[in-house]
Amino acid sequence: MIIECRDLHKEYSADNRVVTAVHNVNFSVEKGEFVVILGHSGSGKTTLLSLIGGLTVPDRGSVFINGIENWQQSDEDLSDMRNCTIGFVFQFASLIPTLTSLENVLLPLSFGKRPRGDYQQALEILELVGLKDKANAFPSQLSGGQQRRIAIARAFINQPDIILADEPTGDLDEQTEKEILDIFRKYNEKGMTFVVVTHNTHLALTQKDARVLEMRQGILGDRISVQEKIKDMIGAV
Ligand code: ADP
Ligand code: MG
Repeated sequence: MIIECRDLHKEYSADNRVVTAVHNVNFSVEKGEFVVILGHSGSGKTTLLSLIGGLTVPDRGSVFINGIENWQQSDEDLSDMRNCTIGFVFQFASLIPTLTSLENVLLPLSFGKRPRGDYQQALEILELVGLKDKANAFPSQLSGGQQRRIAIARAFINQPDIILADEPTGDLDEQTEKEILDIFRKYNEKGMTFVVVTHNTHLALTQKDARVLEMRQGILGDRISVQEKIKDMIGAV
């Protein structure tokens, strides 16, 4: 197992109310899998990804990446994991406006103690996402979809074992959505593991050979088991 979540639980309190963002999640991913987690806004998808990626500390439970528990390692190893083992694709592409496309893609190489990528690979990745001719363009000179593809290229530069993608196609048209998923699939064929979370049913249902799970009220499972668990919870109230 490349990802293993055991009894993972995270609550937030706001306005004297406790919200269970992630509810006792048990979830494993095998190397090379393509997992899509479908859920409405507020169902806990972003929180789950940030727990998996070691950006958020769980209240209870644990996450193992390649058999190593996220919060049982040194800060240096944890940040190395975030930089090299995992690539994050966030909903809003946050490129540095004063850096060119190529420089943005190269940026992660300055962090982490074992960067795996290099300049040549940055150019290859830009070619793969179809933007080699924009290597010297600044973000303001790119369309929203192009900026998103640069952010994706940046997530790939360290050849991560795992890509965690949060609404990677949010606000993009269907054509761009397909282009982005095609890029993901190319990397997945090379053995990279993907966990993509989205509220986009179209994305979830068009991914051939993907394992599609549903998330609702912090509960993760296949569609039927999620319904059952929620029924039990309501019954228990
Ligand atoms: P999704 O990504 O599926 O929209 P989130 O993980 O962002 O869901 O949020 C799950 C729940 O946790 C929501 O009710 C949200 O309001 C709450 N939540 C998320 N992050 C925080 C936070 N930092 N502080 C308080 N509540 C939060
Ligand atoms: Mg979210």
